Amino acid sequence: VIAEAQRAVLLAASRNSRLREVVERAPVTRELVRRFVAGTGDDHALEVATELRGQGMLVTLDRLGEDVTDAADAAATRDAYVGLLGRLSALGLTEGGAVETSVKLSALGQALGASGEQTALENARAICDAASLAGTTVTLDMEDHTTVDSTLRVLEALRADFPWVGAVLQSQLRRTEADCRELATAGSRVRLCKGAYAQPESVAFATPHEVDRSYVRCLKVLMAGEGYPMVASHDPTLLEIADAVARDVGRDGDSWEVQMLLGVRPEEQARLAALGRRVRTYVPYGEDWYAYLVRRLAERPANLALLLRSLTST
Ligand code: FAD
Repeated sequence: VIAEAQRAVLLAASRNSRLREVVERAPVTRELVRRFVAGTGDDHALEVATELRGQGMLVTLDRLGEDVTDAADAAATRDAYVGLLGRLSALGLTEGGAVETSVKLSALGQALGASGEQTALENARAICDAASLAGTTVTLDMEDHTTVDSTLRVLEALRADFPWVGAVLQSQLRRTEADCRELATAGSRVRLCKGAYAQPESVAFATPHEVDRSYVRCLKVLMAGEGYPMVASHDPTLLEIADAVARDVGRDGDSWEVQMLLGVRPEEQARLAALGRRVRTYVPYGEDWYAYLVRRLAERPANLALLLRSLTST
């Protein structure tokens, strides 16, 4: 119960701008940021992606930033992704989708009034064009439950032209098993995660146990389907179950992948890659790291202790 309360407080903190200023100034914050975030600019992202490729990992790069408040910021995010994809391609990193990109529609304008969804779609289209030229893919991150319908509409529109665009579904949401059924079709890339946002009980399972059980049900649907499941979790039990379900339905190792975050269980990521498994590291980078970092801290009390230490020494 305490852990759940802690998580709720932290998730609220991820949206608090005064706390953000305090955290950004704290000296120990830098240490934490370095663990979970590749750095602030494209050069850092390219460096970390190159290093991970050297260790046999696949990579998805996420330029941090969400909830933009004007169209110019959304366009700047779009241009940054297009520029990054050009550089990745020039370095040969995008071949066969080895390094792809993850995108948050809220960073592309999704919440900008009545035309926000259209703005985000157009910006995402430009990123998909660049990814297509580079020979790689794009995955649309999933944000809080109020955005799911809109994100799935944008996904459908994009997939008409770019069938390889991936979606993310969160087992925390009651609707997700049904969404998995809809998306478990040929060519469809679906990343299954537990969900990192505080969501009301009317739409989400309240206990970790229920979220895990939902994860297993969703896994079964995705693995039995014709798409390409991307199992995003650090949870050893769920990863074992994913292996077992894949075996049961006769999937070979190239028809699905495991995904983990930069800085979380790095030894396990390297171990799986060394076994020849498809493992993709999600690598966030950019100036706007605050909300992302706080969500990671909310997942683990040990990380929270580090943050508190940093604040008391400010
Ligand atoms: P948990 O129950 O949180 O953790 C299981 C175990 O993993 C823990 O006991 C611990 O050993 C280890 N662990 C987990 N987190 C940490 C940590 N921060 N530090 C150290 N050890 C840790 N969420 C979204 O809502 N939308 C998205 O688009 C999205 N994309 C994601 C992409 C990837 C590749 C991954 C891996 C996660 C993504 N998430 C996303 C986050 C996800 O929803 C969870 O919040 C997060 O992965 C933690 O859940 P878990 O499955 O690892 O299980």
